Formats: sequence, C-alpha cells, structure tokens
Amino acid sequence: MATIADNLQAVRARIEAACAACGRAPGSVQLLAVSKTFGPQAVAEAVAAGQRAFGENYVQEGAEKIAALREAGVAGLQWHCIGPLQSNKTRLVAEHFDWVQSVDRLKIAQRLNEQRPAHLEPLQVCLQVNIDGAPTKAGVAPQEAGALAQAVAALPRLRLRGLMCIPDPQPEPAAMRRVLAQAARLFHELRAQLGAPPDFDTLSMGMSEDLELAIAEGSTMVRVGSAIFGRRTYAADTAA
Ligand SMILES: *Cc1c(COP(=O)(O)O)cnc(C)c1O
Repeated sequence: MATIADNLQAVRARIEAACAACGRAPGSVQLLAVSKTFGPQAVAEAVAAGQRAFGENYVQEGAEKIAALREAGVAGLQWHCIGPLQSNKTRLVAEHFDWVQSVDRLKIAQRLNEQRPAHLEPLQVCLQVNIDGAPTKAGVAPQEAGALAQAVAALPRLRLRGLMCIPDPQPEPAAMRRVLAQAARLFHELRAQLGAPPDFDTLSMGMSEDLELAIAEGSTMVRVGSAIFGRRTYAADTAA
C-alpha cells in the first residue's frame, strides 16, 4: 500500500508537471495538505515527509489536532482553517490557526480581528468566493467581494492574502476551466482595486481531482486531501 510519504511525492510530481505544462515556475504553487478526519499520527507522517502546511475543515477537530501535535513536540507547522465558519467558533480559529481561508462576511472578519491574541502574528485571511453561484453554498458573491476585501484589508489584526473557492465539479474539463478562470480574473481585479498590495498573493483553488486544471488557470495554492491521506469515510467526514 502507498504510504503518506509516497502519496505526497506523487502529488508534488503532479504539481511540478502541471506547472511545467503551462510554463509556470515549479515553486509558484503551494501545497496545502488537507488532514480533516485524519488523526495527529497521519499529520506527523506527512511532516516527516517534509510537509508543513495543513488544512482543517472542522474548527474543534483542528484545534485539538494542533494541540496534540504541539504536545508531541512537532513544531513549525502552519494551520489553515478552510471550513465553514460560525460566529461561535471564531475565537478558537483566532487563537489556534495561522490562516483562515473561509471568511465570507464582515461580521466574521471583525470577530476574528477582535479575538486574535496580541502575541500572535496577524491572522492570514483569504475570502471565500462563491464563484459558480451555487445557491446553497458558502462564499461571498463575486460582485460583493470587492467591498468585503476593502473592509477586511482595513482590519489591523488580519492580513488579507487573497481568495479561495470551491467550485462544484463539472462533467467537462472545459466547463471547469471556465469557472476557475473566472476566479483568477476576480483575483486580479481585486488585487488591482486594492492597489496591488504584495501580500495579496494567494489564489487558493484546486483539490485532489482537479489540481492540474486549477494550476493551468493560475492557482497559487492547491488544497489536497484524499490524494495524500487516502479516502475519508463518510461517518468520519460528518462527525466533527
Ligand atoms: C476536503 C477539502 C479539500 C480536499 O479535498 P480532496 O478532494 O480530498 O483533495 C479541499 N478544500 C476544501 C475546502 C475541503 O473541504
């Protein structure tokens, strides 16, 4: 059976090949390992294979895992919250995570700003955009993203880093590419609107199934779970 280290190597090779195929520098895409539903031991295995950045969907599960790894003496990790955010969970995020990619309304951003402990770096933030307009989905509407970006950029304990999106799978790669290209266009528009701050450098899109398409359309961070850690069981996926 392939180990987590084998899988990581294979995913890195996919990223490099995708960069080469569209003439991008191999270091221009970061890999976020999405460890939701997998335990601290799986994270430790990935760390041993050189991975540093991890994504978690469920705030409570993530906070516990972060604490477990710290207690185990595993240092230097970067934790990203990528799941839906409710007001009653913002304090845990502000106190435990380095990044949050799922900010989609000002009220949540304001709470994170107030709750970020003074001794920590500002919280790195991506706005989640509902790029394909799916009615039930999280994310700010594309036409409202500019106003939200301006407001979030003004909050001193947050640092606005870019956009994140989770487009629905499309039956045809060409259709998927159109959606991903829209996200890239919005990212560049907002960047220009904000005055091109150097920190606004992150377009988080692409997962296990579609990272090549996302890289071809300009993703700077792919979020990969199952291709690294294996298949999640449904029960575990909905538990936390
Ligand atoms: C689970 C998840 C991923 C990883 O998905 P895979 O298909 O397992 O690679 C990426 N982003 C978000 C927001 C997720 O919830």
